Amino acid sequence: MNAFLDIRQIAKAFGGNQVLEAVDVQITRGEIVGLLGPNGSGKSTLLNVITGFTPADAGTVFFDGQRIDRLAAHRIVQTGMARTFQLPSMPTRMSVMEVAMAAATAHHGVFGTLLGTAAARTTERAARDKAAHLLNELLLTPVRDLPASALSGGQKKLLGIVCALMAEPRMLLLDEPTAGVHPNLRRDIVAALQRLNAQGMTLVIVEHDMHFIREVCTRCVVLDRGHIVASCRPDQLASNERVLQAYLGSAGAH
Ligand code: ADP
Ligand code: MG
Repeated sequence: MNAFLDIRQIAKAFGGNQVLEAVDVQITRGEIVGLLGPNGSGKSTLLNVITGFTPADAGTVFFDGQRIDRLAAHRIVQTGMARTFQLPSMPTRMSVMEVAMAAATAHHGVFGTLLGTAAARTTERAARDKAAHLLNELLLTPVRDLPASALSGGQKKLLGIVCALMAEPRMLLLDEPTAGVHPNLRRDIVAALQRLNAQGMTLVIVEHDMHFIREVCTRCVVLDRGHIVASCRPDQLASNERVLQAYLGSAGAH
């Protein structure tokens, strides 16, 4: 069977720093893949390459049979792949609701091209309904009229997920969704991600928290200094020599 996301021989260097080298990852529809690795191992860079924010030096990425590694980020979103960022930054003057609405505009460009027409108003109403629904799903209804910049770090992560979901993706890549998030909120994020997966969403999650990984992920892929060193079930991580080496080997450097 063809992989839903098929990453082949991806390489990326910044100056003399070889950050990714011959990275191969295949992901099947419906999986929840944890992307693990020590700090600086290339996890965010790999997400940036997949989603078109960083051009790779070599290699190919196919998503649902379509080659996407030459596409711009906004075109990749339109193929059904969305992402969140490790450190979401929010505009100071927009409310939480406005940020969610702006995400729909950014993803589809609909209001821009149809501006002022009845079709635009219908589309905008649909986007507003969708934003309200997603803000509710991710527990942001009580703060929907506050400035987005006033949210806590954890709430900004939730809003990042809302923005990604406004694109109605089939695959969602999350960069450290629970880092720095209060444990109560972490439980809510876990529940929200499991609901999404039950509805058919394929997830790739960069995560450090082992409890989260064991609870949520169906498979783990481990990066170490730009190489994939393991692909296994979460319960096999602790006994995997190359995984232990990756973490122990970097312990002195961080
Ligand atoms: P991780 O997410 O696993 O912590 P990153 O992918 O953020 O790691 O970074 C991997 C390496 O790539 C680090 O050495 C980092 O300094 C370097 N790097 C990432 N992005 C850039 C960039 N835009 N310019 C130069 N170096 C970068
Ligand atoms: Mg990172």
